[in-house]
Amino acid sequence: MRNVCIAGNWKMNMIPSEGKAFAAQLIDAASKAAENETVVVAPPFITIPAVIEAVKGSPIKVAAQNMSDQASGAFTGEVSADMLLDAGVTYVILGHSERRALYGEDDAFINRKVRYALEKGLNVILCVGETLEERESGRLEQVLQTQVTEGLKDVSASQMADVIIAYEPVWAIGTGKTATADDANSAHSFIRGVVADILSEDVANNLIIQYGGSVKPNNVKSLMSMEHIDGALVGGASLTVEQFAPIVQFND
Ligand code: PEP
Repeated sequence: MRNVCIAGNWKMNMIPSEGKAFAAQLIDAASKAAENETVVVAPPFITIPAVIEAVKGSPIKVAAQNMSDQASGAFTGEVSADMLLDAGVTYVILGHSERRALYGEDDAFINRKVRYALEKGLNVILCVGETLEERESGRLEQVLQTQVTEGLKDVSASQMADVIIAYEPVWAIGTGKTATADDANSAHSFIRGVVADILSEDVANNLIIQYGGSVKPNNVKSLMSMEHIDGALVGGASLTVEQFAPIVQFND
């Protein structure tokens, strides 16, 4: 049985005091999660220390939503892997569709960050997914193939133990539209096949592939029942404990 990961991406929400209170309330649900499940929250950079403090001694892991591809120096506004590690961060989300679309991040740039994060010992959640236009014009597989292959370029089989792929169809993010469980499962199966081709069957079989895109308490169970769906990357519904706790405890 593959491991499972439920992650909440808070985006640009939650000031430090709110994040701290939220994290403290989530500990109970995370402690009751299945043994093979990891629970992650991704606060904005400024909120990370308060959340790290609040989840100390609990099973909740903390992710950053982005990271520089550079080690240090004159890169105004950037945050380095060493800074994240020193703060107690263990995961980083890279290649989120908002960063691709709003900040022009391309596959080569994302790949530099992926490799650097892995070298530094961070776990990576690499986001991939097609736009509606790409899906409707029959380019779903081509887009996923490119984003996965380029995003994982020069990543070794052993480093893949620290990689999660999040399949997030762009048209389903924050829109209330969810891919059907069957559609999501077939995209996940395709991604697993790409990973098998570029690395190995073994790596592909062990890879956690999360689904992201309007995951809510009322659809998480059907998504998680699919063979190739091993978790969720949750945006809007990760902002209240009332919604996120039942997602974390989807197995109950
Ligand atoms: C996301 O931004 O990663 C996401 C999946 O958002 P939402 O759950 O709000 O669609």
